[in-house]
Amino acid sequence: MKKLHLFIAVLFVINLIGCNEQNKKDIVVDNFKYQTEQFADLAILRYQVPGFNELTVKQKELVYYLYQAALSGRDMIYDQNYKYNLTVRKTLEAIVNSYSGERSGNDWDNFMVYTKRVWFSNGIHHHYSNKKFFPEISKEFFSSLIDNSDSKLLPLTNGGSVSNFSKRITKIIFDPKVAPEMVTFDSNVDVIKNSAVNFYEGVTQKEVENYYKKIIDKKDPHPISYGLNSKMMKVNGKIVEKPWKVGGMYSQAIEKIVFWLEKAAGVAENDLQKNTILKLAEYYKTGDLKVFDEYNKLWVKDTESRVDAVNGFIEVYNDPLGYRGYYESVVSIKDMDATKRIKAIGDNAQWFEDNSPIADRYKKKEVKGISAKVITVVVESGGTSPSTPIGINLPNAPWIRKEFGSKSVNLGNIVYSYNKAGSKESLKEFAYSLEEVDLAIKYGALTSDLKTDMHEVIGHASGQLAPGVAPPKQTLKNYASIIEEARADLVALYYLPDKKLIEMGVSPTEEAYKAGYISYIKNGLMLQLRRIKPGENVEEAHMRNRQMVSKWVYEKGKDENIIERITKDGKTYFVINDYQKLRTLFGKLLNEMQRISSEGDFKAAKYLVETYGVLVDKDLHKEVLERYSKLDLAPYSGFINPVLTPVMVGDKITDVKIEYPVDFTKQMLDYAKDYSFLPNKN
Ligand SMILES: [Zn+2]
Repeated sequence: MKKLHLFIAVLFVINLIGCNEQNKKDIVVDNFKYQTEQFADLAILRYQVPGFNELTVKQKELVYYLYQAALSGRDMIYDQNYKYNLTVRKTLEAIVNSYSGERSGNDWDNFMVYTKRVWFSNGIHHHYSNKKFFPEISKEFFSSLIDNSDSKLLPLTNGGSVSNFSKRITKIIFDPKVAPEMVTFDSNVDVIKNSAVNFYEGVTQKEVENYYKKIIDKKDPHPISYGLNSKMMKVNGKIVEKPWKVGGMYSQAIEKIVFWLEKAAGVAENDLQKNTILKLAEYYKTGDLKVFDEYNKLWVKDTESRVDAVNGFIEVYNDPLGYRGYYESVVSIKDMDATKRIKAIGDNAQWFEDNSPIADRYKKKEVKGISAKVITVVVESGGTSPSTPIGINLPNAPWIRKEFGSKSVNLGNIVYSYNKAGSKESLKEFAYSLEEVDLAIKYGALTSDLKTDMHEVIGHASGQLAPGVAPPKQTLKNYASIIEEARADLVALYYLPDKKLIEMGVSPTEEAYKAGYISYIKNGLMLQLRRIKPGENVEEAHMRNRQMVSKWVYEKGKDENIIERITKDGKTYFVINDYQKLRTLFGKLLNEMQRISSEGDFKAAKYLVETYGVLVDKDLHKEVLERYSKLDLAPYSGFINPVLTPVMVGDKITDVKIEYPVDFTKQMLDYAKDYSFLPNKN
């Protein structure tokens, strides 16, 4: 449902104010290389899988089968994104594998950049903007690449000549009029006809809309996800749906997925998990969307298993009308350290409520911590790879969510990698002293985890309305979510320095929290400004909340110089001089936020948000943008997956080895070699 994508744009907010990160201590390799290369607007990163080696052999075997199932479906996303993507990819791979000419120089390098961009986007359209991108080489050079490569490797059509093929593929790749956009949402055009995505063929937007108007019963309380697993096309003037299933479209890849799923079911951790996996296999075999709903109900129920997987046609962002799902898979293990930490905080929820600086009448007599889960990704495939979400919240069917619940997870090791990869340069640029850098390196990740955990587990859960007052959505209206986020942030900020956290064993020292305070203030007053364009004010709710909180404590502490604004060599810094007094200010503001929420005080909410959260200091904004632009950071990142290799004795798996490759190109070529199950045209 909600796919949280992490771009460089938000990268540093997360880096500095926190999201779910991995605990530093369980990362095995310290000098792990998080970023391997950067090209076009992309960076290639790596991630580790802490916890993998503590799995039992049986659990590792299970992960391995799910890993194979995930990768087996990889070809589908290419074909779904555009019907000639597999032809393009195979052509590029044929060249990379066999071109006999000079493999260096500008032209070759530009060809490789294009090839890597196609791999990154699972096709010829930009993974984020959906617009077609082009190689920065001439058509002549491209045709010489084809001519000097092994023609047996080229995806020629039956009996077609290389020169005809070369013309055809050149047009597909170079012609800006051919498939300019993968998906368009432009309401002035036929969005089906004008989207290159391979979900429809020969049908108009009107025809699709009428088709579903006829078959969808709006009163059905439990509707299937219509169209989720099929291509819609016209055959002999009639509209048909061609299902993606065993025996249907993409059968060659789906059969492999089913094969591995059935093996996985054989080594499942428990009966529920076994039945869940078998249900998914049944769905792939039948294409029956009712079975898919049954599968989702089981999947949601399984919260005990250590190993988990998302596998299927899930998200519908690439369908301009929102019916068809693209293939994706995420295989993961539960992060036990994070789970323990979150549980410890949840178990003490009442203590936090009782000791909160809010007025007693707004305190809950019985507070229950909200549960949150952090997972460690082992492999991703399809629409979630190489570019990945950082949070997943499934299933999508609203009625299943309502009646059976949903699973919401943070991809802990992915976020950790993002932070490690991009943090150092910006950290140095915006830190006033070495002490700040030191604190951030030592405790940045940990306090960031703690802050996020407390925000989620005790922040949103705390406090109650005054008798007779309607919920904030009604009373505070458009300010409700900003006040709510601020309230949760402030609970976390207030408790971050508390000795209770050390007592509970979740914080290591009494000074660790300082890293969290520094990053919050710096981000709220300065760094997040880089995400808005010159001349604009702060619009987004989370950003308003962070600026409001930071600016309020800055202003209120001005007389006592609690936070000092310093200019050094023309650069602005905000330095915290008195941490304890800052904590007291956070407590005061928390008290006020709770009062506003509990009483539904719209006027006060409006005043605080408009005074502190919205307006941008134009000079500071300009400075921040300039300082960031000098750091040369790629706006988008994607990941190289780990490689799993079974250790066999006879036909029995006795262990599974995990390795972390460093070469993106090699991984893409390996995948092509091992998982090319689909024909060029489907
Ligand atoms: Zn929140």
